[in-house]
Amino acid sequence: MYKIARITFKPIVEGLENIPDRIDEILAMLYKNGQIIDWIIEDHSPIFIATVNTTDDDSLDAKYYNQYIRKELADFEIKTEIVGDDALASDCCHCTEHSYYIFAIYPDLSSSPVICGDCGNEIPLTRMPYLYGEEEHYSILNFQRMYKAVDTLWMDSLSDRFTKRQLVDHKSELNRRGMEIRAELEKRVGKPVYYLLANPIGGWYDYEKNNQRLEVCPKCGGAFDKIDNAYADKVCHNCRLAFIVPED
Ligand SMILES: [Zn+2]
Ligand SMILES: [Zn+2]
Repeated sequence: MYKIARITFKPIVEGLENIPDRIDEILAMLYKNGQIIDWIIEDHSPIFIATVNTTDDDSLDAKYYNQYIRKELADFEIKTEIVGDDALASDCCHCTEHSYYIFAIYPDLSSSPVICGDCGNEIPLTRMPYLYGEEEHYSILNFQRMYKAVDTLWMDSLSDRFTKRQLVDHKSELNRRGMEIRAELEKRVGKPVYYLLANPIGGWYDYEKNNQRLEVCPKCGGAFDKIDNAYADKVCHNCRLAFIVPED
């Protein structure tokens, strides 16, 4: 379950400068490392307290720190405390094994885009391996941010043709990047990972045109396999694509 937590920062080195900025940078590192989602910092000089959204009970544990966080935290004494559950969050995955995964960017969610195939819940990024030799989850989080930006432009109708193609066409730059990350994820976890292709696109704008029912995989023309997951209904096993195809 996503939690609200407090992190208290007490400087332990004399003469530290720009302390709020330093703490903000550390929190940004924790975000890029999949440990927190967002944050605000209270000034109680010389102590600073950050209230954060974190991804699970143990997500702030030092065992998840990367070398950058460890280095920056050497100047502070920190204390972490879980305050309570995030009332708007659903529970995250607690499975020990996953038979497959779905990589799905949901425009309304800022949490993990990696979904467990077995329980259908999000897997906190702290429990996912790093990609491309990074020591953080920057590639996934950066892609999530970019995808959401494109989706916002589509929903706000600022650039219909460009943004719609980016979202629904498996050949678009956006989806090609997503599928590249999917392939890297699959290499790291050793289980099938499906990329959720937003086709039909959903929403009420020009409903008939934007919500055509897919009968076959738009990439290879092959038949779908049905899956039992809250985030997708059908997959193309060959193309490793997942789709939301509502039943009639
Ligand atoms: Zn699970
Ligand atoms: Zn296919």
